[in-house]
Amino acid sequence: MRGMSEEKPSTEDLAGRLREAGLRATANRVAILGAVTGHWGHPAAEEVWEALRPGYPTLSLSTVYQTLESFIQAGLCVRMRGGDGRLRVDGTLHAGAHDHAICRKCGAIYDIPRQAEAVSADPPLPDGMQLTAIRLEYEVICRECSPQTR
Ligand SMILES: [Zn+2]
Ligand SMILES: [Zn+2]
Repeated sequence: MRGMSEEKPSTEDLAGRLREAGLRATANRVAILGAVTGHWGHPAAEEVWEALRPGYPTLSLSTVYQTLESFIQAGLCVRMRGGDGRLRVDGTLHAGAHDHAICRKCGAIYDIPRQAEAVSADPPLPDGMQLTAIRLEYEVICRECSPQTR
């Protein structure tokens, strides 16, 4: 997997990704996509909004929610459920497949490199169902929550 953090996509890149996904590249969408793709922490909608507010004072939280929903529909990011029940997204799909380890105690979400052998490329899906992605989720107790480290 390449550079997991620093890489900042350009406005052109972002606009291109939006158009490929069939969405118009509006200023709000470009800003929101930039915020989620530059972020490896599975941000909540509220966090995306907080991060953008200084530069986009008229952007509302409900616009961020709607935009993230449209990104999820378009396959630009993935809906995550953290432990706190808020809408969270994973916007790092363009960097390659990865899986998640989710702590059953605190709900923290960790990115785990994909191991090809862990995935069946030919799952027994019902007829007529089209596979668009495979995701694995590991349930863990994270180091923070593990009794051994106390
Ligand atoms: Zn934990
Ligand atoms: Zn992730």
